[in-house]
Amino acid sequence: KLYNQVQDLKGSIRVYCRVRPFLSERSSYVSTVEHIEDGNITISTPSKYGKGCKSFTFNKVFGQSVTQAEVFSDMQPLIRSVLDGYNVCIFAYGQTGSGKTYTMVGPKDLTEKNQGVNYRALGDLFVLAEKRKDNFRYDVAVQMIEIYNEQVRDLLVIDGSNKRLEIHNSSQTGLNVPDASLMPVSSTSDVIDLMNLGQRNRAVGATALNDRSSRSHRYPLFSFSFFNNIWSRNILCSQTKTCLITCSCLTVHVQGKDLTSGTILRGCMHLVDLAGSERVNKSEVTGGRLKEAQHINKSLSALGDVIASLAQKNTHVPYRNSKLTQLLQDSLGGQAKTLMFVHISPEPDALAETISTLKFAERVA
Ligand code: ADP
Ligand code: MG
Repeated sequence: KLYNQVQDLKGSIRVYCRVRPFLSERSSYVSTVEHIEDGNITISTPSKYGKGCKSFTFNKVFGQSVTQAEVFSDMQPLIRSVLDGYNVCIFAYGQTGSGKTYTMVGPKDLTEKNQGVNYRALGDLFVLAEKRKDNFRYDVAVQMIEIYNEQVRDLLVIDGSNKRLEIHNSSQTGLNVPDASLMPVSSTSDVIDLMNLGQRNRAVGATALNDRSSRSHRYPLFSFSFFNNIWSRNILCSQTKTCLITCSCLTVHVQGKDLTSGTILRGCMHLVDLAGSERVNKSEVTGGRLKEAQHINKSLSALGDVIASLAQKNTHVPYRNSKLTQLLQDSLGGQAKTLMFVHISPEPDALAETISTLKFAERVA
């Protein structure tokens, strides 16, 4: 039965959409989402000429009240197919604050109930592997990397080293970032430990990459604020400033051995949390921030071009235009299964970004 479900999804691109609920402090707003039915979503687009609306169609649309468990159960067959040797890619797309990290990882106050796809996916793979243990032996290992300014960085380093990694697909090992730490996992607690390590390294990397001035200040903040408010504000800003990272990616490698025939099959799954898709206004940012934004714009449009050309079944797929698409190459197209998961915010002030996100997604739906 599972095998049939898997066959249905073979070599496919699917597009899901999720609407974030209102965050409490903004609950007085009226949602821009007018209607959701099956795969259809209607957005109201009031203008000075009166009321208008736009509809979009995807494989699935999740409304504001849909839980993490419900979202996951819909993705489960796709995720499980990695144990059958498929390559899978799931990426979260949408403007900052639309709920990408919530879907992929979960909120800051993580509980078992609100865990995102990353945790659930691995937990589920362990459950299924255990069920199949009379016929298969599975080895599961993970890598966690991020792309920042077209450089690939390892998030599972223990010594805090920060070396740049290269992407080159090794058909022998199935690893496309061979030098990134590859950690074997066999239980959900292993996974939680590694996610925490990855999260810590993200934070360290973000501070280390900030301008040098912020790192040289070792004094406690209050002593500055005592003398000079402006100073303390600047320091606070530079310390809390995070880099604009193109994506963070959890890659799950699975090797399964058929115990009767001895056949080995290999699958891998990329779970990708992308940078916010909003177009940064050039007049608002300069210097390092502008460069980061330009790299992000370039990567996201390269990803859009790849997905669109796969959806149109073009013979040439432009994988080489960004590190992001090179990284995901083995899991986009061919026999691989791709899920583009777009996220939107319901607030009226997000309307322009909501429409542009949905249009981006419609290119491939
Ligand atoms: P993004 O990663 O797209 O920038 P986040 O995932 O950080 O957005 O979400 C922004 C805020 O909204 C966070 O506080 C998050 O916990 C909350 N949030 C997002 N989606 C949901 C949801 N489906 N249910 C409850 N809270 C959510
Ligand atoms: Mg996020």
